[in-house]
Amino acid sequence: MINVIREPLIFEISSPGKSGVRLPALDVPEKLDVLDGLAIRSDLEGFPEVSETEITRHFTRLSQMNYCVDFGFYPLGSCTMKYNPKVNEKVAALPGLSGVHPLAPEKLAQGNLELMKTLEKLLCEITGLDAVSLQPAAGAHGELTGMMLIRAYHQAHGNPRKYVLIPDSAHGTNPSSAHICGYVVKEIKSNEKGTISLEDLAREMTEEVAALMVTNPNTLGVFESDICQIAEIVHARGGFVYMDGANLNALAGVTRPGDMKVDVLHLNLHKTFSTPHGGGGPGSGPVAVRKVLEPYLPVPVIEEKDGQYHLNYNRPQSIGRVKSFYGQFLVMLKALAYLLALGPAGLREMTEIAVLNSNYIRHSLKDVYHLKYDSPTLHECVFSDKFQKDFGVSNLDISKRLLDYGLHPPTMSFPLIVHGALMIEPTETESRRDLDLFIEAMKAIDREARENPELLRTAPHITYVRRLDEVQAARNPVLRWEKK
Ligand SMILES: *Cc1c(COP(=O)(O)O)cnc(C)c1O
Repeated sequence: MINVIREPLIFEISSPGKSGVRLPALDVPEKLDVLDGLAIRSDLEGFPEVSETEITRHFTRLSQMNYCVDFGFYPLGSCTMKYNPKVNEKVAALPGLSGVHPLAPEKLAQGNLELMKTLEKLLCEITGLDAVSLQPAAGAHGELTGMMLIRAYHQAHGNPRKYVLIPDSAHGTNPSSAHICGYVVKEIKSNEKGTISLEDLAREMTEEVAALMVTNPNTLGVFESDICQIAEIVHARGGFVYMDGANLNALAGVTRPGDMKVDVLHLNLHKTFSTPHGGGGPGSGPVAVRKVLEPYLPVPVIEEKDGQYHLNYNRPQSIGRVKSFYGQFLVMLKALAYLLALGPAGLREMTEIAVLNSNYIRHSLKDVYHLKYDSPTLHECVFSDKFQKDFGVSNLDISKRLLDYGLHPPTMSFPLIVHGALMIEPTETESRRDLDLFIEAMKAIDREARENPELLRTAPHITYVRRLDEVQAARNPVLRWEKK
C-alpha cells in the first residue's frame, strides 16, 4: 500500500476559470429573462473548477483508498464478502432487462416474469420449501416479512401469540425483526458446544411462543446438528421454525432447510448469490415458506398458467406489499445467471469449498489464536484475542494492524458470546495462496503482540488514514466541508 500525502478535497484544488470541457460559443441567449432569479440557486456557490486531468486523477486516487473485494481478501464474518463474477453484472445490464419500466404491462414483461418465476423455482429446490416471495430488499427485510407471515398465520388461527425464542448466538437483526413485528424476544442460552440446548428449548417452548428464530449454521459457524429435534419441540407446541439463511453458502447444494423441518427462511441474494454485498447497494432477501404459510405471502404473487405469467394481487390473506413494484429485479437476475452457470454440482462445490476454506483457517490458526468453541465449523470460524490480551493487545489492535498488511480485518466483537471475537468467513472464492497470505499475516501479528505490543496499539501505520478516534467520529461526525 502506498503512503501518500493527504489527498486534498476537490474544492481545494479548484482554481477559477478552469474547466474540464471546452464548450462552443453560445448560439442562444445566456439567460432567459423569465427565469431570472428563479433558476439560479444562490446557496450553491463555489462549484469546484478543475481540468479533466485533475478530476480524473482526483477520483482515481480516491478510489484507490478504498478496500474492496476486487482488491483483496475480505474475511468479514457473517457477511459473505465473496468475489462475484463480472459476467452476472453484464447479464443484469442487458438493455432489455435493465431498461424495462416497472409499470410495463404484464403482456410486455412476460420474459421478465418468467425469469423471476424460474428463480423462485430454483430457490424452492435449493431450500426444500414450497413457495418463495422475491420481494424483500434485504436480509433483515426478509426476516421481518417472514415474521409477519408467522404472525398472520397465528392471528388467522385465533391468537398471534406473544414470544419469539432466539438463541444468544443469533445475528443481531433477528431480535430486531421479531420485536418490530410485535413479539417479545426470549433468549435461549447456548451450551458448551455453542449450540442450542434442547432442555432449555423444551422448557421455554410454550403455546405462547409463536416461533423459534435460528441461524444454521449459527454465527459461530457451528451446525445445529439437533435441528430436527429442535423443530419437533417447536412444532409440538404449534410454533414455527424460522431459519436465518443469510449465509447459505454453508449449506446450499448439500442439504436443505426444508428437509430439516424449517418452516420459513430468508436468503441473502447479495451474499450467497452473486451480488456484491456492502456499500449500501441494492440487495434482495427472498423468503421461502412451507405450504401452510403460502396464502399470507406478500402481493403480488407471480402465477403461471399455460405459459403465461400474471401478477396476482387478489390474495385475501396476504400480508400486503412489502416493497414497491416487485423488489430488486436486477439483483434477482444476477442470482439466476449465477445459479444457471453453476448448476447443481457447481452449487455443491461452492459450499464445499466455503467450508473447506474456513476449516483450513481454523486449523492453521488454532494454536495462535484462542478458539472458545473448538468444534468443526462450516463457512466461518470465531477466534478471540484471549492469548494476545496478556500483552495488552485487543481484537481492535489486531484488526488495525491487518490493515498495514494490506488485508481487510475480520468482523469484530460479534457474536457477543465470544469476548474479543474475531469472526472470519473466507468464502469459497479465495485461493490457497490468498488464505496463506492471511494466515501468515495473522501469525506475524501474534509475534508482534509479544515483541512490540505498542506497534499494534498504534496501528495502522501505513494507511491513508491512521487510527481514528472512533468515539468522536461516531458522536461528532463531520459530514460537511466548510470553506475556511
Ligand atoms: C447479513 C445477515 C443478515 C442481515 O442481512 P442484511 O441484508 O444486511 O439485512 C441477517 N442474518 C445473518 C446471519 C446475516 O449474516
